[in-house]
Amino acid sequence: MAMRRKSDLPEKTCATCGRPFTWRKKWAKVWDEVRYCSDRCRGARGKAAPKPEDAAG
Ligand SMILES: [Zn+2]
Repeated sequence: MAMRRKSDLPEKTCATCGRPFTWRKKWAKVWDEVRYCSDRCRGARGKAAPKPEDAAG
């Protein structure tokens, strides 16, 4: 009954896209800090600001 299954992994909601995502093995050590479903969403925070590389030239 209270056994943990693979389908019973913890879930969070992505702070960028708002979609639920499931615990992954690569997040085992940082799960408490994980707020985004992917690197893409994590990098989307400063989306509005142009990159230095883009300004050059
Ligand atoms: Zn996301």
